[in-house]
Amino acid sequence: MSAESGTTCKVDRVAKKRGLTELDDELRKRWADGDSLRDLERYCNESILRSAMHAAGMNTLDGEAANLYRLFTDDDVGPSKRIDAKFRLQRNGLDPETLAGDFVSYQTVRTHLNDCLDVTTARDSTLSVDSARTTVLKLVSRTESVTNQTITRLAGQGSLTIPSPSVTLSLRVACSECGDEYTFTGLLERGGCSCQNDADGVDP
Ligand SMILES: [Zn+2]
Ligand SMILES: [Zn+2]
Repeated sequence: MSAESGTTCKVDRVAKKRGLTELDDELRKRWADGDSLRDLERYCNESILRSAMHAAGMNTLDGEAANLYRLFTDDDVGPSKRIDAKFRLQRNGLDPETLAGDFVSYQTVRTHLNDCLDVTTARDSTLSVDSARTTVLKLVSRTESVTNQTITRLAGQGSLTIPSPSVTLSLRVACSECGDEYTFTGLLERGGCSCQNDADGVDP
């Protein structure tokens, strides 16, 4: 928050500093097209990076900015590749720390959309099927792994004998209306119970 900039919004300050004149229009358009706040966060930060690279005379064609941004932020990228990416910027006179300091979070993007662009992001609170699946499957896999560790401990202290345990948790959902039963992922895929198939909102 800098008093002299006349605004407390980081997106506005960074956009001005990096000369991103189209950013607001793009954010509006992309949000209307169904991009998520995470998508917009990546879009903002890739734009920031691209503009800095361009100003430093680096090649920004062929998705170079997107690629470097991924090397910076993706958890799957190993430390040596990340260091290589930083060296590339430094060789071109860019300071990776300053750049990273200009990156915005999706929360900041949300505030910018809400307060500066007057775009409501309420749909952000709806739960997507994909994220629901991920949440529950993570829980299942955690339960399996804790059970495995517990069995190993019991076996280790001699309270249990099993040569090669393999734990599988199968999560099932039944409909008490008709008695049909589904795997959790199967139910998400078909989008509802078979007894609701031809209902379509019309009473017989
Ligand atoms: Zn703003
Ligand atoms: Zn049913």
